[in-house]
Amino acid sequence: MTDPTGTVDITASRRLDGNAAAGMLAELFAVDVTTARSRCASCGTTSMLGAHHLYADAPALVLRCPSCTDVVLRYAIREGRILLDLRGAQLLAVLLPAASNESNGA
Ligand SMILES: [Zn+2]
Repeated sequence: MTDPTGTVDITASRRLDGNAAAGMLAELFAVDVTTARSRCASCGTTSMLGAHHLYADAPALVLRCPSCTDVVLRYAIREGRILLDLRGAQLLAVLLPAASNESNGA
């Protein structure tokens, strides 16, 4: 694809509408994320989200790193929308249900 300046955008042919990610994202959010392992962006500690410190009385649900106490995840529902802030997580690894069954020997 060529823009008005004549520059060729080599990524345009690979680009999809963000709605195309819905199937993959549904897999992520259809599982129990408390078993997901999160790497803290501040201190690098990796631990299950279920092991983080939860502050549920804040304007948003807030999970803090059990090691350095920095905010890892914030979750809120506002005006019919779910707001998810993961900037405190360097990486979030969610085990798929099929992989979980395999690791349990089932
Ligand atoms: Zn930390």
